[in-house]
Amino acid sequence: MNRFRCPVCEYVYDEGIGAPHEGFPPGTSWEKIPDDWCCPDCGVREKIDFEPIGAVR
Ligand SMILES: [Zn+2]
Repeated sequence: MNRFRCPVCEYVYDEGIGAPHEGFPPGTSWEKIPDDWCCPDCGVREKIDFEPIGAVR
């Protein structure tokens, strides 16, 4: 499971956790997230701005 971090607020999207409040259940891969999905925390960055930070160790 990979993780991706918002460059503004450091919110982390973890594929193993998903974003249930956003409609993405745990296990939702990053590829399934729409490109225009905004960061749920700051709302100013979209998916394409997120930085991959690797898998959970
Ligand atoms: Zn953010």
